[in-house]
Amino acid sequence: MKRRDPSAMPGSREADGPANEPVDRRQFLSRSLPAGWVLLTALTGCGGGPAGPVEGGEEAASGQAPPGGAEAPAPGAEEAKAEDPLAGYDPSQHNYAMAINVDRCIGCGRCVEACKTENDVPREPFYFRTWIERYVVQRNGHTVVTSPNGGISGFPPVEEAEILRTFFVPKLCNHCDNPPCVQVCPVGATFKTEDGVVLVDHDYCIGCRYCIQACPYGARFLHPVTRTAEKCTFCYHRLVKGLIPACVEMCPTQARIFGDLDALSSPLARFQRMHKIQTLKSHLNTEPKVLYANLDGEVS
Ligand code: SF4
Ligand code: SF4
Repeated sequence: MKRRDPSAMPGSREADGPANEPVDRRQFLSRSLPAGWVLLTALTGCGGGPAGPVEGGEEAASGQAPPGGAEAPAPGAEEAKAEDPLAGYDPSQHNYAMAINVDRCIGCGRCVEACKTENDVPREPFYFRTWIERYVVQRNGHTVVTSPNGGISGFPPVEEAEILRTFFVPKLCNHCDNPPCVQVCPVGATFKTEDGVVLVDHDYCIGCRYCIQACPYGARFLHPVTRTAEKCTFCYHRLVKGLIPACVEMCPTQARIFGDLDALSSPLARFQRMHKIQTLKSHLNTEPKVLYANLDGEVS
């Protein structure tokens, strides 16, 4: 698809070069620091919620180690980090993904609440970066799928006599390795990072909604205030600090597992080895990086 000249777009930033050049956005963001960090925090929405680790560290809270591993900071590293939030972070060393063990999800919605708080997602029940769907398989052969307010407050009880079984499926952006949302964006605002995360640069986004229509997973929405495209970022602002996504940290059953696909000893890699992995709508060749285990055939 031929891209339009972003310098002709409202809100484009000619000083940083045209967005449709094959610019490495990580380099762009790094070059532009600290202004770029402001941009990055804005686009990942980290200004809203608690970003710091809980007492006792990430591992204590979730049972999962930070993806980069906990290493003692080098002398002077803290000062450098205060000046450059990306200091010491090397995206070439990571290939992030999330796994979801459907059998473990109890539909409590704590992940949805954590995401809304962490990323300042609008509270209205139309906007979610992650949400939970409940599948109710009935005796008459029908399956009913519901997600009241994204499952943020759990689910009402069902009449047990009428059902064969129920299960919950957490959903979010799949951070596709072959993302149609990136392909259709006319100004290069949606992009894939070197460490395998799909992000939106809000300075470039013109709110055309092409990406929202192109996403086969319904993972995007238009922010009602900024009028730019929004979606899960894997809490990228946390990843660069060695933290895990807020939803993973808050899940009480460890239904969500986050980590590095290339790190053989990571919880994610172990989970992959121990389970039969499925992805959503795999026939579309989007190559999702949200990996499901124990997924029922009813789920799409
Ligand atoms: Fe893009 Fe949708 Fe894939 Fe996320 S799930 S990377 S928004 S196509
Ligand atoms: Fe499921 Fe964990 Fe989310 Fe609760 S916090 S709904 S168990 S994924």
